[in-house]
Amino acid sequence: MKFLCECGHAIYDQTDDLPYKAYLYPDQSMDALYTALDQLIQSAPRSVSQRYTMTLPITLPKGHRQMYQCPDCGRIYISDNDKLHCFVSEFGDVPKNLFQADPQ
Ligand SMILES: [Zn+2]
Repeated sequence: MKFLCECGHAIYDQTDDLPYKAYLYPDQSMDALYTALDQLIQSAPRSVSQRYTMTLPITLPKGHRQMYQCPDCGRIYISDNDKLHCFVSEFGDVPKNLFQADPQ
């Protein structure tokens, strides 16, 4: 995925470990995610297909979405069924590293 932010900055999603990307999991999907984690801990999958089935609620929870934050202006984009929704801080002082695992 590649798109241009409203400010003109190009945002790329073509690799892993991006400091400006995050995942949004609906609260309504968290019980299924925790149940899948418990099942995975209690019984190791015996095949690749069983592992895929058991980890699917963890890796792709129902209703999950991807989010991106522009490192230049701080706008946040949420990808929803191939449509991007843009959000900008009403106060203008949003940190531009909200999706970094270890912001400095
Ligand atoms: Zn921007």
